[in-house]
Amino acid sequence: MRRVKIVYVAAFVCCLFASLISCGKVPESCTDTFFGMDTIMEVTVYGDADIFNDIREYVKSIEKLISTTDSESEIYKLNAGQTDVVSDVTYHMIEDSLDYCQMTDGALDISVYPVVKAWGFTTDEKRVPSKEELVNLLGSVDYSEIKLSSGGKVSCNGAMIDLGSVAKGYVSDNLVSIISNDAGIDSAIVTLGGNVQTIGRKPDGSLWKVAIADPMGREEYIGYVSVENKAVITSGTYQRFFEENGKKYHHIIDPASGYPVDNGLISVTVVGDSGFYCDALSTALFVKGLDGAIDYYKEHKDFEAIFIEEDGTVLMTPGLKGTFTVVSGKAKVVGDD
Ligand code: AMP
Ligand code: MG
Repeated sequence: MRRVKIVYVAAFVCCLFASLISCGKVPESCTDTFFGMDTIMEVTVYGDADIFNDIREYVKSIEKLISTTDSESEIYKLNAGQTDVVSDVTYHMIEDSLDYCQMTDGALDISVYPVVKAWGFTTDEKRVPSKEELVNLLGSVDYSEIKLSSGGKVSCNGAMIDLGSVAKGYVSDNLVSIISNDAGIDSAIVTLGGNVQTIGRKPDGSLWKVAIADPMGREEYIGYVSVENKAVITSGTYQRFFEENGKKYHHIIDPASGYPVDNGLISVTVVGDSGFYCDALSTALFVKGLDGAIDYYKEHKDFEAIFIEEDGTVLMTPGLKGTFTVVSGKAKVVGDD
């Protein structure tokens, strides 16, 4: 908390300084760091920085709608059977997420919530559920049971919703819109935990360099992608996990088994135009595994991806040639045949 406060004061001083010296020159950067959606968020803009309040308010407003743990949120009430009508924002987020569930053949399944909850990833009471408990809970995991109808009506038919796999990407798309369309800023970078989204280029004309974390924690990062106007979104086993009896359990669940995905991948990064879509895909491709992810890539080709396997092998799709730089070694190209 104290660290967040110090960063906040530093960011405020930075804004003040920037606004004093930026008139008519290359705009200075201004950064705001805050805690939201269970992660550290950092927004850096080049230009008029009078938008940080709007940004924080926007993030808070979405969190209030979709939190699975806040008893006042729409998703909480939906899951508790206390309502079946939601706001336009929540409705459209569910609607598009269901499309992504279908497109990925249920590798993404926003109804996986009861299982995620049983593992304790939404509360901090992490535990290993029994096989029987998981089998029982899987009985209510099926996104196709969630039906939408006019007037904001959501019929869950026994399913429960968790938008954790897509929410940060949805938010970063909208932050881009607030920053570029509403505030007219054409150079900025938004980092929401493992989700990064860039606006334009840096003011000196160079591309943004977005670091890809080392999932094994040996180095701070294994490489970086050089991008403009792109979302760079990573799902990894290292982002949320616990250990019991020497075994690691992470938060990306295979909706077919109820267990954390164990297919040799430890990190999947998706690079594309929409944060929402890339966030859905980072989770879904993780669940699909390398072969399934490559098949999906070949069918769609509307994104690029980086895969890291548990033995440290780094792979990338062909569109990242010249864009992705590995710090040591090389990335093997996959999906180009
Ligand atoms: P991400 O970090 O974007 O991959 O999202 C992971 C989060 O999404 C988890 O913390 C769960 O809340 C939720 N989740 C886990 N597995 C799945 C899945 N197969 N489909 C949809 N959501 C999931
Ligand atoms: Mg995701």
